[in-house]
Amino acid sequence: MRPGASSRPPSTLSWPSVTAAVGAGGRRDRRRRDAARIAQMWKVQPKRVGPERPLLHRGDCGLCKAAGYLSKDEALLTAEQFTELQMCDICQPWGVLGIPKPGGA
Ligand SMILES: [Zn+2]
Repeated sequence: MRPGASSRPPSTLSWPSVTAAVGAGGRRDRRRRDAARIAQMWKVQPKRVGPERPLLHRGDCGLCKAAGYLSKDEALLTAEQFTELQMCDICQPWGVLGIPKPGGA
């Protein structure tokens, strides 16, 4: 037994081609399911600095990446409890939540 050759995978293995072969079908499927699920959810973009306010987005809004997602109930609750919460103008989450657009208008 050669030293250092114990548990390493063969260095000739090419990871990109391996993962492409293994993951092509299943992974794409799961991603589609995730996208459908995320479209039914909401996320809050935390304020970054100073006077900026947290923004509520729909789950599939491309403007921010969320660490976690809220259900519709949780999003409604959050909007109720945090009066300083603002809503994204791009994905317009108030429409799907069934609440009036913040700020009147
Ligand atoms: Zn948004």
